[in-house]
Amino acid sequence: MRMSLPLSPTQLRPLFSPGSTTSSALSPRLRPISAASGGGGGHRGRTTPRPSPSQTSAGYLTAIGRAIEEEEEYRRARAEVHRKGVVDVEGYLVEGVSVGGHETCVVVPSLNCAFDIGRCPAKAVHQDFLFISHAHLDHIGGLPMYVATRALYSLKPPTVFVPPCIKEDLEKLFEVHRSMSKDELKLDIVALDVGETYEIRNDLVVRPFKTHHVIPSQGYVIYSVRNKLKKQYAHLKGPQIKKLKDSGVEITDTILSPEMAFTGDTKSDFMLEPRNADAMRAKILITEATFLDDEFGVEHARQHGHMHLFEIMENAQWIRNKAVLLTHFSSRYKIEDIRQAVSKLQPKLSAKVIPLTEGFKSTYT
Ligand SMILES: [Zn+2]
Ligand SMILES: [Zn+2]
Repeated sequence: MRMSLPLSPTQLRPLFSPGSTTSSALSPRLRPISAASGGGGGHRGRTTPRPSPSQTSAGYLTAIGRAIEEEEEYRRARAEVHRKGVVDVEGYLVEGVSVGGHETCVVVPSLNCAFDIGRCPAKAVHQDFLFISHAHLDHIGGLPMYVATRALYSLKPPTVFVPPCIKEDLEKLFEVHRSMSKDELKLDIVALDVGETYEIRNDLVVRPFKTHHVIPSQGYVIYSVRNKLKKQYAHLKGPQIKKLKDSGVEITDTILSPEMAFTGDTKSDFMLEPRNADAMRAKILITEATFLDDEFGVEHARQHGHMHLFEIMENAQWIRNKAVLLTHFSSRYKIEDIRQAVSKLQPKLSAKVIPLTEGFKSTYT
């Protein structure tokens, strides 16, 4: 059911102060930083072991000490990623397969959700809710198979959320498939616009947010919903609260907590929009990093409506998420390239970034 939920004042507060949202303060795309500069150098607010007088006289020893410290910091960050594992992210089992231009589908079984459908991997078939970011075939190509396979397994017709501008075409597409296959191909297509809210479970709602790709696109934030006693009634005792409630007074506020955000294909611009603050503070951000190195740089990524890993490094300060799952790597890379590139992120960022390389197929393998 579509619904309009009140937001608490804290949820409405933009992530960025007005002064920090000016384009001059946030124009990282013009200044790509080198991968090498992300991994080393700079004081990170940690206590550096005090060098002995003899070490001080030999400055290089201090440098070695710093390098060792950073290496340790890096190892700790990597260990944390491995502990989390690729599939267990912040308490959520996240699966999927994603190769830029080929297929992208991310599945979260505990939420009964799939984000984009790619070529319809088997795991996605069992999720009742599907969120489509945009109509490129590497994200939507498997949709008819998703619907048909669910029917084959006698699963209920799925609910498929789409950007409003593609709903009509999708309906036509399904009419063609029905005409050709003589199958019913039942599904509920929901055109959900940016800012609208839809309840998918009594404790879960979804809300699309604006992304920036070469065709119309949107991301989705999944929120957990809980009711909290209004502050003005916090001092009351149980029977008094019950009396108020029974008299019809609304005694609770509805609190939405952003659990997961999925962007689909997008330029980095989405990170800088105050209205997208919830995507940037959701527990888990699932986003893309199609390009990773200097060969195809930031400008190339932007021209094609994608994000470059350098931009993620540059925007690290806005990433408040506990974990960031990176997807949509170009198939021009090898898995080792991806791992190496991600390992060069700033240690603080590296600690929470997980590249989704399960099932990744490089052109070269
Ligand atoms: Zn794509
Ligand atoms: Zn695309």
